[in-house]
Amino acid sequence: MLNNRDHNKCIVCFDKIEDLNFNLFDTRFGIKNLYQIGKCSNCGLIQIFPLPSEDDLKALYEENYNFGGESGTVYSRLRDHFLSSSAYLLWLFLDGDVSFHSYFGSGSLLDVGCNEGRSLLIYKKHGFRPEGLELNEKAAAVATAKGFKIHTELIEDFYPEEKYDLVVLANVLEHSTRPTEMIRHVARILNPGGQVWISCPNVESWQRKLFGRYWINWHVPFHIAHYSNKTLNILLMDEGFHIEDIRQESPSAWMTQSLIARFYAKRGKPTKKLRNPLLVGSMMLFIRLFCFPILWFGNHFGIGDCLVVKAKKDF
Ligand SMILES: [Zn+2]
Repeated sequence: MLNNRDHNKCIVCFDKIEDLNFNLFDTRFGIKNLYQIGKCSNCGLIQIFPLPSEDDLKALYEENYNFGGESGTVYSRLRDHFLSSSAYLLWLFLDGDVSFHSYFGSGSLLDVGCNEGRSLLIYKKHGFRPEGLELNEKAAAVATAKGFKIHTELIEDFYPEEKYDLVVLANVLEHSTRPTEMIRHVARILNPGGQVWISCPNVESWQRKLFGRYWINWHVPFHIAHYSNKTLNILLMDEGFHIEDIRQESPSAWMTQSLIARFYAKRGKPTKKLRNPLLVGSMMLFIRLFCFPILWFGNHFGIGDCLVVKAKKDF
């Protein structure tokens, strides 16, 4: 259950978690519970604890995440049009790319947590042969209707006929209660020398310190663990990867959401302003135009908001 304290071990190195005495509430959907954050006394991982049970998490995802619910609307058509345009590539160049949407290449690719397949369309256009892994049936059905091969197993139960050249975990790892197993299974389904591309929030971010409990990337209870350069390195090296490239990005959308949460989020109430496209869009433009020096500084000095990693399987 959410409030028992039995599950208080680090999910990467299984050492003891020390309570940071930091009560957090959900700033997006209005979930009433309070959640604790702790730090591993060995590897330094910061994570929610006690861990929510799998059943609790499943129920919370079904209640709060609108999988497959935005297809065919005017908004979704406009969004899909923008995502396939060169203006989007320009925006990613200026604002940072945390979903690997500006990368070109070749070979087979598995997008873990592919949702409705929007990224798959982009990866295909950019030269890859993408497939998706998606547990939610509604989202998987939407992605399948776009013409992609979508697998609906847990990654630990997934045994593809052919291994992949590349696995993408774009804003996925932080949701996992068993990240070591996830990375181990990624290694299993990769060809020798294959790569995993990972993006996830950076717990060392200056914005985490500025916004405190309102930092949008706490995202309790859905974000289980909060990684840094160091803890991500430990996780990947332990499972036979070495990092080829690590950089940081600070998307204006994330800072916008942290700001909106800071001013409007109240425990137990959904923050409706996070879903106001006019407010969010204008704040994103404002931040990109006027805050770029501090965002750039953060990215180049290890305190940006998102870690973006390419790692290669060593065997
Ligand atoms: Zn640890």
